[in-house]
Amino acid sequence: MNMKICVVGTGYVGLITGVGLAKNGFDVVCVDVDSRKVEMINRKEPPIFEEGLPELMQELVPKKMSATTDLKKAVLESGIVFICVGTPCGDSGKIDLKFVRAAAEQIGKALKEKKDYSVVVVKSTVVPGTTGEVVGPLLEEHSGKRIGKDFGLAMTPEFLREGKAVEDVFAPDRIVIGAVDDKSRSLVKSLYASYSCPILETDLKTAEMIKYASNSFLATKISFVNEMGNLCKKLGIDMNDVAKGMGLDSRIGPKFLQSGCGFGGSCFGKDVSAILNKGREAGEEMTLLKTTLEVNRKQPLKMVELLEKRLGNLKGKKIAVLGLAFKEGTDDVRDSPAIPIIRELEGKGAIVAAYDPEASESMKKVFPKLELAKNGGAAVKWADGVLLVTPWKEFETLDYGAKPVIDGKNVLPKEARKRAKYYEGICW
Ligand code: NAD
Repeated sequence: MNMKICVVGTGYVGLITGVGLAKNGFDVVCVDVDSRKVEMINRKEPPIFEEGLPELMQELVPKKMSATTDLKKAVLESGIVFICVGTPCGDSGKIDLKFVRAAAEQIGKALKEKKDYSVVVVKSTVVPGTTGEVVGPLLEEHSGKRIGKDFGLAMTPEFLREGKAVEDVFAPDRIVIGAVDDKSRSLVKSLYASYSCPILETDLKTAEMIKYASNSFLATKISFVNEMGNLCKKLGIDMNDVAKGMGLDSRIGPKFLQSGCGFGGSCFGKDVSAILNKGREAGEEMTLLKTTLEVNRKQPLKMVELLEKRLGNLKGKKIAVLGLAFKEGTDDVRDSPAIPIIRELEGKGAIVAAYDPEASESMKKVFPKLELAKNGGAAVKWADGVLLVTPWKEFETLDYGAKPVIDGKNVLPKEARKRAKYYEGICW
């Protein structure tokens, strides 16, 4: 049994999964259709920004880990194949499985020529039923082989947080392994022998659903505190103090209670949309989740409303947007609250200059004409008003002087707030 591991798709999840397994002693080959990423990995250059990743890649590439565009060769030499490709949502909000299907077809074709047993593991977030009803049949069709006899099938959802991904891969809260049979399950489980966290064993659909239920709950928690925070703001109450009081209740807990300008990132929005859609298909309208998305759609625009109250009509006003990544510690701008904020500002005729220590270039792909400031200080100096969207540490010490500052993510600590003459929080 060859225990080399193949990871198909080397985005945030695939690359971190590969690095984690390599660090834990396995030989890993990462596959991507994007030859730029493959070359970067083989040059030990992380294609994404994540703390701790450069050092691990220096240590592990090429000794324990390499990358290739040759999926067939990688599958043929591996005992376990992880599918970590993207699962975006289409225009209707429904999950788009085109990358998962393509990967399953290619893996199936490679399995056709494989002599020994291997397990295919779906790690991409997929709606319940996908692994068993879409991936499995495609693998069987293209390999001409049988699940349970010639190869195994499993589903292990990924829970890593961007910005803390390296930490999470070595110390997850839990590992969920859904599998078609004991053989598949025990092989996947053997990868995590050194982990002390709970390992939950389920069927495929339950594993898929745990991921959606978790993300939907977290997204709803954020929309809940944001709605409460909006009311607090109107009533002259600081939502941060309210959250502290709530969080001390052991049934509630202090995490994910920070109100702000809304959630972003590649997962929450698309996963909530996808499960809403799946619910609709199953004849189950999920009204709570619909509202979670609606609250989140409006929340970033509150920043612009507050700024308008300070500055009046924004036409021709110079506005600095500090922070473009959907959260600190990453260069990922997917679904970032900064996107609707910039769009709204531009729609109102404001002149926008933006800055992010890691994500400025990524945001240029969304807004090719976006003016990028050299640094936060230069943007503040230039601007008539400032919006703080991502809590990067370096924004804490800037000199905001008498510029109106609207804080969307508790970016400034209490002391720094006092130094900015016209500071205002979104929900405090
Ligand atoms: P990503 O878009 O960053 O990366 C996907 C990669 O797959 C890309 O590099 C792409 O080129 C590659 N790819 C696409 N088709 C391929 C194919 N046929 N063969 C080889 N490579 C192929 O995506 P991501 O953020 O890493 O997310 C991957 C999955 O994990 C998604 O389902 C996502 O919902 C889930 N997830 C993401 C996170 C996160 O924080 N990003 C956390 C948990 C779960």
